[in-house]
Amino acid sequence: MKHILLILLTFSFVYGFEYNLKPQKVTEGVYCFFGKLEPIEKQNAGNVVNSCFVQTKVGYVVIDSGPTFSYAAQAYEQMQKIATLPVKYVINTHIHDDHWLGNSFYKSKDALLIGPRTYEENIVVGMETRIQRILGKKLFGKTKIVKLDTIVDNNLTISLGKEKFEIKQIEDVAHTKGDLVVYVPSKQSLFVGDLVFSGRLTSLRDGSILGSLRALDKIDAYHAKHIIGGHGYVTDANATKEFRAYLSEVKSEVLKAIDNDVGMEEIVKKVSMPAYKKMKLYDVLHARNVLDAYKELEMIEDDEE
Ligand SMILES: [Zn+2]
Repeated sequence: MKHILLILLTFSFVYGFEYNLKPQKVTEGVYCFFGKLEPIEKQNAGNVVNSCFVQTKVGYVVIDSGPTFSYAAQAYEQMQKIATLPVKYVINTHIHDDHWLGNSFYKSKDALLIGPRTYEENIVVGMETRIQRILGKKLFGKTKIVKLDTIVDNNLTISLGKEKFEIKQIEDVAHTKGDLVVYVPSKQSLFVGDLVFSGRLTSLRDGSILGSLRALDKIDAYHAKHIIGGHGYVTDANATKEFRAYLSEVKSEVLKAIDNDVGMEEIVKKVSMPAYKKMKLYDVLHARNVLDAYKELEMIEDDEE
């Protein structure tokens, strides 16, 4: 008993929060840790995001490193159970901190960090991030902000152990400015970060509803067998369907309201879209999405008049 206690104490000292990460196989050599469909809270320590890895003969490529140093350390430990291989590259899809705060762990393992220009522009070493604020010092632990090694402006292809990773910015602004997707042709797998959600609502706060819809068209044009989004569990070729339906309905409802001279004060009530109330995070995000869509679409309507 004493031994078990000691092991548990040592474990919690080294790792802090126990994330209980279990890799799920998407297809041969492609795995993800799927996060909970919840807001970021102390109780989940930021485990609300999908972090994936592709196995090659000579090492792993990680797509999005997750919310903390300790999350990434525990993910790495799980990878080593599949095969003892180094992590050579970490590709960051966008600037939201639940997706990249694990970078400092992978940097300590000599991985090369790749990401969008906006990471370089917006993420400053030493700044306090949203996750840090919510989790507090103890859960944030050894997490640090680290700089990228390689910035992707439009596209970049990297090769590792015969596998190709085609990184591309498919829209200027969609979920955020500079979102990247990663296509692995041999796996017919497309990693799209937060350009696709399933089972929960998105946030349009840093993005564009029109850009998001255009991005979905471009994602579908890859005809990938596996489309892996940043949140949610649907990873087949139809992964964009539910998300497109939500965004399309927000767009058409808001446009209709604008045509009927519905003002900013009433728009949230008018576009409540009750069918989506059962979706996770509806209460937290829907009203804000409607407002953001209103501001964007109203401007376009003004331009046309
Ligand atoms: Zn995001």
